[in-house]
Amino acid sequence: MGSRKVTSSEPLDWQGKHVTVAGLGVSGIPAAKVLHARGANVTVVNDGDDARAREQAAELEALGITVRLGDGATLPEGTELVVTAPGWKPDKPLFAAAREAGLEIWGDVELAWRLRGPDAAPWLAITGTNGKTTTTQMLASILKAAGLRTAAVGNIGVSLLDAVLGDEQYDVLAVELSSYQLHWAPSLRAHSAAVLNLAPDHLDWHGSMEAYAADKGRIYEGNRVACVYNVADKATEDLVREADVEEGCRAVGFTLGTPGPSQLGIVEGILVDRAFVEDRHKNAQELAEISDVNPPAPHNIANALAAAALARAFGVPARAVRDGLRDFTPDAHRIAHVADVDAVAYVDDSKATNTHAAEASLAAYESIVWIAGGLAKGATFDELVAKSAKRLRGVVLIGQDRALIREALARHAPEVPVVDLDRTDTGAMLAAVQEASRLAVAGDTVLLAPACASMDMFANYNKRGDAFAEAVRELGS
Ligand code: ADP
Repeated sequence: MGSRKVTSSEPLDWQGKHVTVAGLGVSGIPAAKVLHARGANVTVVNDGDDARAREQAAELEALGITVRLGDGATLPEGTELVVTAPGWKPDKPLFAAAREAGLEIWGDVELAWRLRGPDAAPWLAITGTNGKTTTTQMLASILKAAGLRTAAVGNIGVSLLDAVLGDEQYDVLAVELSSYQLHWAPSLRAHSAAVLNLAPDHLDWHGSMEAYAADKGRIYEGNRVACVYNVADKATEDLVREADVEEGCRAVGFTLGTPGPSQLGIVEGILVDRAFVEDRHKNAQELAEISDVNPPAPHNIANALAAAALARAFGVPARAVRDGLRDFTPDAHRIAHVADVDAVAYVDDSKATNTHAAEASLAAYESIVWIAGGLAKGATFDELVAKSAKRLRGVVLIGQDRALIREALARHAPEVPVVDLDRTDTGAMLAAVQEASRLAVAGDTVLLAPACASMDMFANYNKRGDAFAEAVRELGS
């Protein structure tokens, strides 16, 4: 870790400044309105030109904002700053033109960071391939238990712009950041930050694993108190080493094993802090019991340790960590126990939309009938299947890309019975659950952890999880 001065937010004179907002959407519309209200001369550009875009454009034009539909590629004449929706790919011609003109390009997070007031609450920031939402919510719960005014914001519920400009006063924010958002947030400086894990994801957007990792690593830039990394995932520690941070900022690891000095970890079923204690070479502070973590699956205990590390970096007492973890309930479709039917547990982890998430989920149970499949998004399944093979009682495959998983099973788990449902209609979930119940024996877990996106069969992962829960209820009735 190197160190350098943190750049403070620069008050900008927006009056008459020509700003191009790229993308009419959940971040573009509020950005355009906020900048227009500050006196900027705003033009919104958007690729699409459908009925909905026209409706949104009309609303903005009524305020005096210029909107150009059907052309998100050309940079409007006279642009001085580009504010982009985080999802826009960096290789778009609009950005090439902006870079050529020497312009800054800000995403939604950068905009919120620059517009926050002088007394704004510090940010405790979280990213990673998986576990971001859960960890951010756990952190907010812990901060609340410590009596702090806070909210879970960012790539989750409340937008950062609303959080920094709204009337609500905060002491500290728990901020979830995606790799896209970090890519477009060059001057963000968090109080402390965590990268939970790093596995290949969204590589078509970032261009390469290196570029993806580098964008995630931006979260550590300028940290003041702690850079929190995953001891089991060396790539996260490497990112800490490469970051430029404030003097005195520490690298703090979390581990499911016994913690060394400057780490949080587990000792005999207890979450323990050996980082934020006096004389960390001799002392440790008990924070909570594993049973305080909901659900107490290994990856979720890791999430709890990361949240605890950030809270402790902010000075939160041990008791609040325990109370906050006890108060926390995970969002739906994240290892949600749906029901027990004939001594078989049915668990909905529809949010496991990539192989890294599914691997964590499968590692949480001993004997599993696995329901998997959907849209693979370019993923390969050999590693996942090879690592999980010994836990599989059977597999039921659904969705468009199920052949990829079937082939990996044939290579690495040829003994495991597989039911390949040649259906992608919504009703296929009922058939999948019925097949799974036939394969399962008492004590097993039927686990929906598809390792794939859901959009071939369902509107989203929520609907997929709902269909699973409904099918389980039908099974039990
Ligand atoms: P994100 O916001 O990063 O998508 P979530 O908290 O919504 O993460 O969890 C998404 C899925 O990722 C969960 O359903 C679970 O399968 C998996 N998951 C959660 N935490 C972890 C972790 N620490 N490591 C690996 N997988 C995880």
